[in-house]
Amino acid sequence: MENPSSSDPSNTRYEDAIFGPLVPGRECGECASCCVFLNINTPDLTKPADTLCPHHIGSGCSIYETRPHACRKWRCLWRHIETIPNQGRPDRIGVMFSIETDTESRNLFEYLYIVYRATASRDAFDDPLVSRAVDGFVDQCLLSVWRSFDGQKSQVFPDKYMVAAINDPDGEEDRDLAAKAREWHGRYLAILSRLGIK
Ligand code: SF4
Ligand code: SF4
Repeated sequence: MENPSSSDPSNTRYEDAIFGPLVPGRECGECASCCVFLNINTPDLTKPADTLCPHHIGSGCSIYETRPHACRKWRCLWRHIETIPNQGRPDRIGVMFSIETDTESRNLFEYLYIVYRATASRDAFDDPLVSRAVDGFVDQCLLSVWRSFDGQKSQVFPDKYMVAAINDPDGEEDRDLAAKAREWHGRYLAILSRLGIK
């Protein structure tokens, strides 16, 4: 498809704003992972996670031309990030990378984050392709990174040491960590501001 799960009601496509346009020629093909694994709760479409959307007819979306706004707006990050190889299409590796937002959250790290979701088995997290992609997101140091399986998600980055430094940079004894925490925090807040999230 091309979206849901995020609670973002705006027209901003966060994938474009942060990672740029689609990788040329990279199409969904036979993949329907987002039409299965995402929880969609919008005025024009409601479906639970881990359930194929009733509009999907095996060969694709039966209402593609008139599909809901949420579906038009959403894409997984495999379609945007060239360094995730072709083999990383979600239906091939069982992991789906995406950007989500939860502006209702009281946790700063959930306002805008990357999540990688294992769709069938936790073992999919052990794929070196997945590890390299996650390392790339951590090195970019742009957003927080979470992983999710079976409805449970946990924060991978910033880790607990950096979270402590972000919360209290002046009290952090490791000056390099304090500097990195300040830098990440400032950049993150700037992204949230630029995108009108906070
Ligand atoms: S409406 Fe179409 S694009 Fe949206 S989830 Fe259903 S099958 Fe996928
Ligand atoms: S998960 Fe990605 S590749 Fe698969 S159908 Fe959705 S947008 Fe396309």
